[in-house]
Amino acid sequence: MTRLPNGGRIEVICGCMFSGKTEELLRRLNHVRLARQTLVVYTPRRDTRYRTGNLASHNGQTISAISVSTIQEIVAHVPEGVSVAAIDEVQFLESDPAAVVSGCQTLADRGIRVIVAGLDQDFRAKPFSIVSELMAVAEQVDKLFAICVECGAYATRSQRLIDGKPAPHSAPVIAVGGLELYQARCRVCYEVGEG
Ligand SMILES: [Zn+2]
Repeated sequence: MTRLPNGGRIEVICGCMFSGKTEELLRRLNHVRLARQTLVVYTPRRDTRYRTGNLASHNGQTISAISVSTIQEIVAHVPEGVSVAAIDEVQFLESDPAAVVSGCQTLADRGIRVIVAGLDQDFRAKPFSIVSELMAVAEQVDKLFAICVECGAYATRSQRLIDGKPAPHSAPVIAVGGLELYQARCRVCYEVGEG
């Protein structure tokens, strides 16, 4: 990659669930380590699928990460002289989108290469504002796709199923009591439940 004079930039890795966002982030961070640059990795506390404090892909590769709740915590924490700051599952930060954009811009303006990964759409197929606004200001955006579990086409949407049925629009973000499941689906096979 061609480096800017001070190296500061924002890169967004986005896509639906199972599109390999975390794998792509880990791939870039591995290159950072091979280049002997310093890096720091953050993950929102709300992302509790895997062991807290580690960034892990579905294929088991891990790198240690610092759990945070807000972008302000990240901006305050990034050590002086660090080359790369990464944020996985950026859509789960408990900050408003403008604050996340402002924080990432601040870091990039300091000369830091900021790499964020996150879902571009929620289970209702609506944009996650944090990610869509970051995409607008980023130097580089990579939108990854998964494979539709129904038909094998490229999938860009995250299908949420609760007790085997498409989750209704009004379903809470966290399902209580029901058995929930996510699948990657294409535009045609994606379904939203009634209600
Ligand atoms: Zn399909």
